[in-house]
Amino acid sequence: MNTIVSRITHTTEDEEIIKIAGEIIKKGGLVAFPTETVYGLGGDALNPDSSRKIYAAKGRPSDNPLIVHICKLEDINRIVSDFPDKAKRLADEFWPGPLTMVLPKSNTVPKETTGGLDTVAVRMPVDPIALSFIEAAGGYVAAPSANLSGKPSPTSSRYVEEDMNGRIDMIIDGGDVEIGLESTIVDMTGETPVLLRPGRITLEMLQEVLGKVDADKTILAGNAAGRPKAPGMKYKHYAPKGELTIVSGEREAVVERMNELAKQGMLKGEKVGIIGTEENIPFYCGDSIKSVGKRDDEVSIAKRLYRILREFDDENVTLIYSEAFSTGGMGQAIMNRLLKAAGHQVLHV
Ligand code: AMP
Ligand code: MG
Repeated sequence: MNTIVSRITHTTEDEEIIKIAGEIIKKGGLVAFPTETVYGLGGDALNPDSSRKIYAAKGRPSDNPLIVHICKLEDINRIVSDFPDKAKRLADEFWPGPLTMVLPKSNTVPKETTGGLDTVAVRMPVDPIALSFIEAAGGYVAAPSANLSGKPSPTSSRYVEEDMNGRIDMIIDGGDVEIGLESTIVDMTGETPVLLRPGRITLEMLQEVLGKVDADKTILAGNAAGRPKAPGMKYKHYAPKGELTIVSGEREAVVERMNELAKQGMLKGEKVGIIGTEENIPFYCGDSIKSVGKRDDEVSIAKRLYRILREFDDENVTLIYSEAFSTGGMGQAIMNRLLKAAGHQVLHV
């Protein structure tokens, strides 16, 4: 399959790109598109064949449901059988934006889209390209992240091309994304909302609107704590090719241990990558040393994390050591992804 790559230029030419992309979706094809979180791999959410194609293009297990993207709030009524008051309040506060809500699905949504579940995950993104694309596509776009299953989600179209060239019909290149981590997912089907996947919208922000919100125990503890309620969270995820270990502890001890490990690795012929905060970068040794940003700048850390993991893949790095980050606010989302990328391999020093 020949994959068209069309670059957004913020001129009137964009309208034609969006129109073509919308037509492809309506005919049952697949289009990767930018959102504020990561790039999505879109198909018609109401067409079971399109959803099957998405799973095939990603190599994704078919029990791992897709998120349905909408562009207008009223459109939700066609795909959910209930839109409870608490969910409406979250929509008022955070939509359009990086929040996905799990709700009971209506019969309009095929089981292929929801991985066989009776619930559907819904999001209204804020990115203007995403919104106009969803509208052109008929209003309901099923989209997981536009990476091959298991790899870090793409934060720029370059990485979408790397994974999806020849596998899908079109890629809309909208430059680098703004947030860099996938949306927050909250399950709204029970009495108390449950955070299933942390993101830019933090647990604290949800609690501020709704009061009590629980968090799935597997978010930081991993599958040892039980079966995650978001099926996708049980898979190895976001993983670079190199073996990643997180080193956690006091700043100086961490730097010292990471350097020891890096030297040992290099002596054995490994190519060693280091993920550190800006403050510590001058003190590290390794083959490829990368800064995620200042320790207290979680927005920057979130934005750079996947890019760094992808860069290590490009550089054929075989061993990676990363600092740990704080787990409050957006730090919870960062550590959740980093722990998964590391297969929960953490050294406490
Ligand atoms: P991705 O967009 O690639 O991050 O994949 C979507 C994520 O949403 C996966 O982790 C899914 O398991 C999760 N998800 C989608 N639909 C549901 C649902 N109905 N219930 C729980 N989790 C869901
Ligand atoms: Mg994904």
